[in-house]
Amino acid sequence: MIYDNHNRPITYLRLAVTDRCNLRCFYCMPEEGIRYLPKKQLLTYEEMERVVQALARLGVSKVRITGGEPFVRTDLMGFMHRLAGIDGLTDISMTTNGVLTAPHVADLAAMGVKAVNLSLDTLDRERFHKITRRDELPAVLDTLDKLLAAGIQTKINAVVMDGQNTQDLIPLAELSRNLPVDVRFIEEMPFNGEGSHYPVLHWTHRRIVDELRAHFPDLNKIQDPAFSTSAGYQIPGHQGTLGVIAAFSRTFCGSCNRIRLTAQGTLKTCLYDDGVLDVRALLRTGATNDELTAAFLKAFSHRPANGFEAEQKRDVVSESMATIGG
Ligand code: SAM
Ligand code: SF4
Repeated sequence: MIYDNHNRPITYLRLAVTDRCNLRCFYCMPEEGIRYLPKKQLLTYEEMERVVQALARLGVSKVRITGGEPFVRTDLMGFMHRLAGIDGLTDISMTTNGVLTAPHVADLAAMGVKAVNLSLDTLDRERFHKITRRDELPAVLDTLDKLLAAGIQTKINAVVMDGQNTQDLIPLAELSRNLPVDVRFIEEMPFNGEGSHYPVLHWTHRRIVDELRAHFPDLNKIQDPAFSTSAGYQIPGHQGTLGVIAAFSRTFCGSCNRIRLTAQGTLKTCLYDDGVLDVRALLRTGATNDELTAAFLKAFSHRPANGFEAEQKRDVVSESMATIGG
């Protein structure tokens, strides 16, 4: 296993397979969308497979497929099957908006995908339309039903947005009453493709927990798995759990085991950095496996201690989460 310069193991890759998306969530991209990269600038599946193989040899055992929306990329399932065959990978998961996912759930389960994160910020159709700028809530709920029926461990990711969906916190948390889901509330981050953000974040992880506790006074803190970014809670008698992710406050950096590869093949060793290695250039100039490995090891030995340090080293954050992969 490889450890970074702060003695954190690197075991988890988040792989963005595309920057394209079929929704326009306002916290992620502007209404007109982001300027998509020309297709030639996106990594091919063969290139991604080679990167994952190289990282798996270094001890990365978990890969999460993300994007953009993974399912807008042609033949995603073919690629997933190839990933499933890579030695050393023990955990393949996915984050999806759920619009195109339902028809593939059985295949995901059959290939051994145990966990899927489904993004869902509200159960109200009008508010869903307003937030995502598309009227797709029924398709997402169909995906949720199918994931649960297939026995896939399902986490619901809800970004908490001041003045937009705070009335949805309790209805979303209520899903945990009768369903075995983990409903996670995420602090909004400045990755909306426009570089804008509140001068002060109104809905911090603390306020989210206070709001949940005001409604569910017997909310219990539960033990979090190692390297989790989510602080977990449970309400007695509920089948599922709740979680709060301090994505903007960055309380979890000390145990961060994750790296990211953007759709154009840039390695990020911190969500808040500006990209530390052009992996696509290495691949396309004929780097050998040893050269690839050496470049990764060098990047891992220069990781920032936390997201604040990473942010200080760059200009204003202006990219969309769709290019980073969440
Ligand atoms: N399209 C897929 C989806 O929405 O699930 C995968 C990619 S999306 C960029 C990954 C995650 O990032 C989603 O759960 C989304 O809610 C979250 N996200 C996007 N923009 C965000 C922001 N500005 N702040 C916090 N989370 C954000
Ligand atoms: Fe698309 Fe996901 Fe970004 Fe929403 S959060 S616009 S679904 S990439």
